[in-house]
Amino acid sequence: MTILVTGGAGYIGAHTTVQLIEQNHDVVIIDNLSHSTIEPLRRIEAITGEMPRFYQGNVQDRQLLQLIFQRHNIEAVIHFAGSKSVGESVADPLAYYHNNIASTLVLCQTMSRFNVFNLVFSSSAAVYGNNASVPVLENMPTQATSPYGRTKLMIEQILEDLHATDSRWSIARLRYFNPIGAHYSGLIGEDPQGLPSNLVPYLSQVAMGSLEQLAVFGDDYDTPDGTGIRDFIHVVDLADAHQKSLHFIAGHPGLHTFNLGTGRGHSVLEMIAAFELASGKTIPYTIHPRREGDIGKSWACAELAKAKLGWQAKRTLQQMLQDAWRWQLQNPEGYEQPLLNQPIPLRMAS
Ligand code: NAD
Ligand code: UDP
Repeated sequence: MTILVTGGAGYIGAHTTVQLIEQNHDVVIIDNLSHSTIEPLRRIEAITGEMPRFYQGNVQDRQLLQLIFQRHNIEAVIHFAGSKSVGESVADPLAYYHNNIASTLVLCQTMSRFNVFNLVFSSSAAVYGNNASVPVLENMPTQATSPYGRTKLMIEQILEDLHATDSRWSIARLRYFNPIGAHYSGLIGEDPQGLPSNLVPYLSQVAMGSLEQLAVFGDDYDTPDGTGIRDFIHVVDLADAHQKSLHFIAGHPGLHTFNLGTGRGHSVLEMIAAFELASGKTIPYTIHPRREGDIGKSWACAELAKAKLGWQAKRTLQQMLQDAWRWQLQNPEGYEQPLLNQPIPLRMAS
């Protein structure tokens, strides 16, 4: 199948592209490199032996998108491209509404024009806001608490309207919980720009010694140790769910929504202990007040994805953190480090 991957140079897009290539799909990437570089594409080639076809540009660029659809026989789209920081979205909501929503509108209009109706969309557990009880089920009420979350919710609604008016659309809305980890090779991984805001990239940099200590945001939540609980999922498991979703929507036209998580939660203190084990380093931390907008606990019920997609997260927390640590050790400067210095592993994880 020929698949257009928007945002394919990003964290989840690069891991998914590796798997798609390994499954003999043809991948065409569009990415404006606003939150990445060309380097992951070289790394994808080092892993798979194939350089995906790449267009540097904005998904909002209608002419470029049309050119891509004219040139390639695109059969399905995985739409990762978007801005994803909750904090940034609070500081500059218009930029978030513009980038995330306008990109999706132009993409769907172009798909429709070229009779391509199979779409996998990157949504987020952020659409549940702090409404849901745990485990979180897909049919629980949604209510975003940040402009970022609202863009995801609005796009989900746009896709619902689209499907309601034209039943040729077959759409999977994938609500990711907390993707972490990296490809087993250590060649691709999460490369936060500036100070990391997510827990695992922050832990990685503390363990490296490039950051002094972790601030634990809150120890007074209604959880066994008082710290926040999240459902961390290996990015490679997440990538696998995209492939399975593509296959599923091809055979089941409709509008589908799936939680992608492990179904288990881990607290911040548990994550610190597990990261110490994976890295062999001590993680200094101090307790700070709650971070504004944070919720206490969130983990998925992932039974629907299991039943419909035949997908289940396989990798353990230790694997997630060992892979995150390998990526960090091999790439202390993220993708800034040239590929030549990277050892290429002889064995890849399944
Ligand atoms: P990322 O920032 O690493 O990747 C997004 C990619 O999209 C980047 O390479 C960026 O350059 C590109 N991009 C952004 N706007 C674009 C535009 N208008 N045109 C072309 N390219 C554009 O993010 P990620 O972690 O890989 O996330 C991928 C998707 O998954 C995002 O939509 C994000 O909101 C969603 N998501 C991520 C997480 C997470 O924790 N990583 C959780 C839930 C949902
Ligand atoms: N967290 C923390 N210190 C940090 C970053 C995160 O204590 O420097 C906590 C945060 O409060 C939450 C958990 O770790 O309970 C996961 O946070 P992350 O930002 O990774 O994911 P999200 O909150 O978006 O689910």
